[in-house]
Amino acid sequence: MNITNETVLNYAPDSAERADLRAALAHHAGLITEIPLVIDGQRLRGSGAQPLCAPHDHRRQLATVSQAGPADVQRAIAAAVAAQVEWAAMPFDQRAAIFLRAADLLAGPWRQKLNAATMLGQSKTAYQAEIDSACELIDFLRFNVAFARDLMQQQPISGPGMRNALDYRPLEGFVYAVTPFNFTAIAGNLPCAPALLGNTVVWKPAFTASLSNYLFMELLEAAGLPPGVINFVPGAASSVSEAVLDAPDFAGLHFTGSTEVFDALWQQVAQRLPRYRSYPRLVGETGGKDFVLAHASADADAVAVALLRGAFEYQGQKCSAASRAYLPASLWPKIKARLLDDLATVRMGNVEDFSNFMGAVIDRKAFDRIAGHIDRARADGHRVLAGGTYDDSEGYFVKPTVIEVDDPQAVTMREEIFGPVLSVMVYPDHTWSEVLTTVDTTSPYALTGAVFANDARALAQASARLRFSAGNFYLNDKPTGAVVGQQPFGGGRRSGTNDKAGSMLNLQRWTSPRTVKETWVPAQDYRYPSMR
Ligand code: NAD
Repeated sequence: MNITNETVLNYAPDSAERADLRAALAHHAGLITEIPLVIDGQRLRGSGAQPLCAPHDHRRQLATVSQAGPADVQRAIAAAVAAQVEWAAMPFDQRAAIFLRAADLLAGPWRQKLNAATMLGQSKTAYQAEIDSACELIDFLRFNVAFARDLMQQQPISGPGMRNALDYRPLEGFVYAVTPFNFTAIAGNLPCAPALLGNTVVWKPAFTASLSNYLFMELLEAAGLPPGVINFVPGAASSVSEAVLDAPDFAGLHFTGSTEVFDALWQQVAQRLPRYRSYPRLVGETGGKDFVLAHASADADAVAVALLRGAFEYQGQKCSAASRAYLPASLWPKIKARLLDDLATVRMGNVEDFSNFMGAVIDRKAFDRIAGHIDRARADGHRVLAGGTYDDSEGYFVKPTVIEVDDPQAVTMREEIFGPVLSVMVYPDHTWSEVLTTVDTTSPYALTGAVFANDARALAQASARLRFSAGNFYLNDKPTGAVVGQQPFGGGRRSGTNDKAGSMLNLQRWTSPRTVKETWVPAQDYRYPSMR
């Protein structure tokens, strides 16, 4: 495979990319974007509309988002089903060219449009937007083409007198892509990965990510995606899903979001199973309670930096964000001092001020949930070492919070909070082996985890004992920042089906191969020699 990851631009003062991004942000000043549904290439207004505001400035309306009604959903399903005939028949290279062109457009003239929309709509800093809506999405588009080619090269052997082949058909029906707010790259990848393999898609974006997601839909159209292949259907999540899952042509779900919602969708599918033409493929990447475990031999500064970046970048709203840490008593004073010193310098605020390291959490619901966790931890007697305050007067701001707990089963050590809250438990150095069991058994999730140690035996022990505790396992690095093509992403247990977005394993789920055998000289006699 001859592709490299998209280079991350650094946005230093006086850089060309910084000026371009500033201009793209300025374009939105005073602008309220009308976001329609896009069904069969047509712009539709749906059955209502909702205002979308910036999380860091909730008085600033960015867009008005049309909401699909039941008739729109039926229209989207019909469009997807109708478009599949021609789309599936299109030679792979021509389909692939559309996505490669989309990648080049995103790497070039569309880059700052998508970055600005991701910053404003999802409250990402310039750097967090760049690694998401530019680099990761470009990588998904390019690498998936290469992975799909590799997949289709997997062919059976052909003995003498015959030809055997696998015909990589799409699923029969349409795929439903339900995407999360926190990564524009994931939102783009979930509809595009199945579409690359000849599937057509009904895409329901997360409301709070509608601005960047709609721009990506426009980018796909600019790249030549035919009408009806991906149908963009924002709307009330449960009613859109009910209508989609009722359709006999529903053939697959490509989901990323919370465990609770994926469970509900799976159950709805199970209840309707007999009505579907095929067994639907269900792919879901869900929640996490990602850990950092340090051994007494670890580098304390490296642990402190990993905790700060891993727990607080993008306000702790990465599925991979560190949210529980297990630190040895001998290193704790040093880790704590460095972490608290660094946190004292962290700036949080409007993401258009580039000196900020953090923006706001995504919406009122998230703000209330996170604030509730902090209050409850305090009421339960846990020690708040940093942060612990929140303010929604301008935007949904929650200070990066570090909570020290003595009880390894404390709520904040077990439940996904999905915000800038890190819980720390300090353990006596000699209890390393017990702590490995605690890390493995505390949470139902198994998404990401990181172990820091300079003693190679400790790394080996942790690797073995925590083999099923994380789908993405890091040694001496933070648990966030997976790169397409380098660290295929996904977790087990209650963190999802672990189909590894950004790898051939994921693409395999979107194809239903037909085996073909062709015989050159067919038999002319039914009798076998043994019968003589
Ligand atoms: P969410 O579950 O609230 O929403 C995800 C999507 O599901 C959105 O499009 C939403 O509108 C839709 N949805 C919500 N309720 C629904 C319902 N009743 N029926 C049908 N659809 C419904 O998640 P979120 O807040 O967007 O994202 C945060 C969650 O996503 C966290 O739990 C995080 O861990 C997880 N996540 C996981 C990964 C991963 O790779 N494992 C990546 C990103 C996010």
